[in-house]
Amino acid sequence: MSVESSIAATESNKKLYEGVCERFEQMASYVNLDGKVHAILSQPKAELMIHFPVKMDDGNYRLFKGYRIQHNNLLGPYKGGMRFSPEVSLDEVKGLAMLMTLKCALAKLPLGGAKGGIKYNPNDHSPEENQRITRRFTVALGHNIGPSYDIPAPDMGTNAQNMDWMMDTYHNLYGRKIEDKAVVTGKSVACGGSVGRASATGYGAVYCLEEWAKGENLPMKGTTFAIQGFGNVGSHAALKLEELGAALVAVNDHTATLICPGGISAKELASHVRQHGGIKGFMPECEVDDLSRFWSQEVEFMVLAAMENVVTQLNADLIRAGLLVEGANGPITTEAEAVLLDKGIPIIPDILANMGGVIVSYFEWVQNRNSEYWSAETVDAKLREKLIAAYRQVVAVAQEQAISLRQAAYVESLKHLEEVYLKRGVWP
Ligand code: GLU
Repeated sequence: MSVESSIAATESNKKLYEGVCERFEQMASYVNLDGKVHAILSQPKAELMIHFPVKMDDGNYRLFKGYRIQHNNLLGPYKGGMRFSPEVSLDEVKGLAMLMTLKCALAKLPLGGAKGGIKYNPNDHSPEENQRITRRFTVALGHNIGPSYDIPAPDMGTNAQNMDWMMDTYHNLYGRKIEDKAVVTGKSVACGGSVGRASATGYGAVYCLEEWAKGENLPMKGTTFAIQGFGNVGSHAALKLEELGAALVAVNDHTATLICPGGISAKELASHVRQHGGIKGFMPECEVDDLSRFWSQEVEFMVLAAMENVVTQLNADLIRAGLLVEGANGPITTEAEAVLLDKGIPIIPDILANMGGVIVSYFEWVQNRNSEYWSAETVDAKLREKLIAAYRQVVAVAQEQAISLRQAAYVESLKHLEEVYLKRGVWP
C-alpha cells in the first residue's frame, strides 16, 4: 500500500493557501470586518481527512488519501468540487474551500463553500479502478455529504462520470427521497444533470469578458485571445469567444504550446483534445518550446483556465494582454498580481470569472429538488443574468472605491456574509 506525495506540489499548494489567506486578511481589514465574523471565516468549519483501501485490477489493495473541507455553511449547504490529482493536499483544498464560500456569497447563491478530493492521478488507472476509487471515497465520506448538507461537484480531474458514480453510491447507501439525486451536481444529463453545466464555467468567464469589452467600447469581432489550459473550462471559453468573432492565436496546455497569428480553430482543436487528451499534434508547425513566447503574446484577452499559481513573479513581467481572466482558481500569485496591476493590466478574478460553474450547479440542484428539467435556453439566460448582475456590482464597487476588481469582489462577498452573520447572530 502506498500514498502518493510530491514535495514540490505541496509547496505550490501552500502558496495557494497562503495567497488566499493573505487576500482574505487584507480585505477583511479593508472592510473593517466584524471581529467574530473575521475569526469564523478565517478557518474552515470542518476538515475531513480520510484513508480508504481500494482493490486494484491486479488483486492488490492500495490505500488512498481523500479530503473534504467544509469551510462555511452560513448561506446554505456546503458546496464545491472534488479534485482528483496527485497534487491535492490539505492546504490546497483549504484555500479552494474558502474561495468557494466567497464565490457563492458573491453570486448571491443560497450555498456555502467546500472543496475536496483524492490525492492520485486518475490517468494512471483503468476505468474500473477509477470507478471503485470514486465509489469507495463516497462510502468513506458517508453522512458528511448530503443533498441538504454538502454537495460535491466536478473539479480538476473529475467529470460527469465521477458524479454519476458518487450519486449512485450515495443513493444505494442512503437514498430514500426524490431529491437525493441532488447530493452531487455536474452529473450527466441522463442521470439528472443540468443541460449547460459542462460549458457553464467557460461561458461564464466569457460573459464577464464581454461585459468588460462593452465597458471599453471594444467590439469583440476582430479581437485576438490566448488560452492557458484547454480542458473543460478553456475549451468552452474558446468556443464561445470564437462564436463572438474573436480569434484564438495562442494556446498552452500540459502537452504543448501553439502560437499561430493566423488563428487556430477552437472547434477543431476541441475535437482533437477529446480524441488525444491534449493539444499536441494538432498543428505541429505551430508548436513552440519557448513558453515565454506564449506569455508575451500581444492579445486583447488572455484566459487562464488551467490551475493555480501559473502566473508568478517569473512571468508576470512578460504579459502584454489587454485583460486577464481567471477561469481557474488562484492562477495568479499575489506577487504577480501586484506586478500586473502596476502595468495597468486588469484582472477579472476567479471568484467572479469562474462562478458560472457553481451557478449552474445551483440550477441543477434546484431542478433535482423539484423534479424539473429546464431547457438549454432557460439555463443560459439565467446564467447570463446572474453573472452580469455580479459583474456589474463588482465593477461599480471597484470604480466607486478606486480598488481592483478582485478587491471589489471580496468587498461584496465579505459584506454579504457579514450582514447575514450579524442578522442571525452567533449562537449561543
Ligand atoms: N469546481 C467548481 C468551482 O471551483 C464548481 C463547484 C460546484 O459546482 O459546486 O467553482
